Amino acid sequence: MSQETIFILEALLFGLVIGSFLNVCIYRLPLQKSLGGRSFCPVCAQQIPWYDNIPVLSFLILRGRCRFCRGRISLQYPLVEIIAGGLSVLTLLHVSYELDRYFIWYLLFVAPLIVLSFIDLHHRILPDIITLPGIVAGVGTVLILKWPFWKEALIYSSAGVVVGGGALLLLGTFYTLIRKREGMGGGDVKLCAMLGAFLGWKAMVFVFLISSVLAILYAVVSLLMPRAESRTKEAGPMIIPYGPFLAMAALLFYFYGLEITTFYFSLVGISSNPVFTPITPY
Ligand SMILES: [Zn+2]
Repeated sequence: MSQETIFILEALLFGLVIGSFLNVCIYRLPLQKSLGGRSFCPVCAQQIPWYDNIPVLSFLILRGRCRFCRGRISLQYPLVEIIAGGLSVLTLLHVSYELDRYFIWYLLFVAPLIVLSFIDLHHRILPDIITLPGIVAGVGTVLILKWPFWKEALIYSSAGVVVGGGALLLLGTFYTLIRKREGMGGGDVKLCAMLGAFLGWKAMVFVFLISSVLAILYAVVSLLMPRAESRTKEAGPMIIPYGPFLAMAALLFYFYGLEITTFYFSLVGISSNPVFTPITPY
């Protein structure tokens, strides 16, 4: 096996294990429970032995049921592990096997976005305990990775916080004024500030555009589906969690932003890519 293959397998295994921890965060953070301690079956409260806690494998062996009570284990557990494992490999390839950049981006940016997305899906909240440290981590990441150019990097990242958070704050205020109803959660504002901190202000145009398109597509599809889960019984407004779409757009930008924007600018006849400068940290 080549050194690259070994690195990729290690990143996959590491990602699966991290995914297993992310499942714990997704389940316990909104309930304000401690992240330490052993896992328990949510149905029968039986402690889960280590050999039933192996990422993906245990789910397959137990065929998605608890060993003790035969209660169903949510498909979300292996799904989160697979996503975490896949994105771990993608991150390693994206940073060309540079391990320090891999750990920074995977653990501080990619993994928290997975947790935030699934918590938002279930509870319609984006906990401050992730987004606020995320803003600091974003600015710190850009500063460290662009060290000799820390001044430019600091401006780029701080502008990202202001543009990301500010745009959504404006949009939310506007919506509340017109519809006399809270439309955008405060959590979305902080998430956008975090994304802007990591990706810089120029990326936020892409993130807002793509996340809106994804959210609208999702809304249209779920309206067309009979008995859609997101449609309320009394035909009230459809509540769509925006967090997962913001996260997806941000990850799309991180991994493929250069290719997508370069393609776009070449279509409109601009030969140099104004989004990516020597100061962009990814
Ligand atoms: Zn059980």
